[in-house]
Amino acid sequence: MPPRLRPLVRTIEKWFDRHQRPLPWRETYEPYFVWVSEVMAQQTRIDVVLRYFEPFVAAFPDLRALASASSDDVTARWSGLGYYRRARMLREGAADVAARFGGVIPSTVEELQSIAGIGRYTAGAIASIAFDRHAPVVDGNVARILARLDGIEQPTGSPALMRAAWIRAEELVRACDSPRKFNQGLMELGALICKPANPSCEVCPLTKDCAAFQQSRTAELPLPKARARSHEMRLPLYLITDSDGRILMRRESGKLMTGLFHLPHGDSALLPGVPLRVERRESLGTFRHTVTTRRIEFELFAATLADAVADDESYAWIDAERIDRVPHPSYVEKALRMARRHGRAPTASKSASRK
Ligand code: SF4
Repeated sequence: MPPRLRPLVRTIEKWFDRHQRPLPWRETYEPYFVWVSEVMAQQTRIDVVLRYFEPFVAAFPDLRALASASSDDVTARWSGLGYYRRARMLREGAADVAARFGGVIPSTVEELQSIAGIGRYTAGAIASIAFDRHAPVVDGNVARILARLDGIEQPTGSPALMRAAWIRAEELVRACDSPRKFNQGLMELGALICKPANPSCEVCPLTKDCAAFQQSRTAELPLPKARARSHEMRLPLYLITDSDGRILMRRESGKLMTGLFHLPHGDSALLPGVPLRVERRESLGTFRHTVTTRRIEFELFAATLADAVADDESYAWIDAERIDRVPHPSYVEKALRMARRHGRAPTASKSASRK
């Protein structure tokens, strides 16, 4: 059963009053500083953000300075923080505010979301933290704490958990006195106390209202991320050599592995290219190989071609002494090792004697 709203939100606001960390953007809650801090904090720890925030706002002290800076300058000041797209989007957003809002950052979620690069999370953060508006904010930390508080049985990061968390966060923020304190309190509790593993329930002010704590399920909620189902498949590979000891390889021209050489394969929807027709084949054994969620059992055959294959844009005859130097994926390496164990891989000396 959902906890009572008022006592819960007041507890979080009071906890924030007492335990908030002193952060530079909390000194004035200047909207531009809040915006920069929120963008910097995405996928980045707060101790790292603290090293970059002040030099960045010293270089670009207000929105107009950022809007008129060159993209190279902004990226240079972001250097080391990573995810450089964030810096580009922040500068584009600043230019958008300068052009459409006269350089004044708007305060409503709707207006904020209309700005280049600002999504639902950042709009909610700026509206509530900078302007104290009743706007919800849900990031991974907030989703986790809400999953535990309400006993939401959904996996971490799942759309279902995020949907439930946004609904609940909206309900809670409407009941609070200060959205600025409440949202930051919830985010800080999620980051510092209600951590992904081993939450510090002994110092958490929410134990009375927390379904996971009351039911001794803090280690279970939110549910672990659903693992992608793995697919089992079997795939024939052919080791084909000519009288000069050269090995037939297939050239890859697809987007992912352009420039790599593969062994020709039998019927498969997995590997690109037309399956090769062979006349006779002798099994050399099987080996396993995993590609993302596919667990593949390759069976390697020493085979003889049904039709002649020329050296062209699809196939290449590779000298044995070069075979280890042509770029190939790791499953080809496994197949060649297996062929050598069976004494079936052509030797360099035979190939080298070819005229
Ligand atoms: S009581 Fe424990 S599990 Fe519940 S919100 Fe607090 S830290 Fe998280």
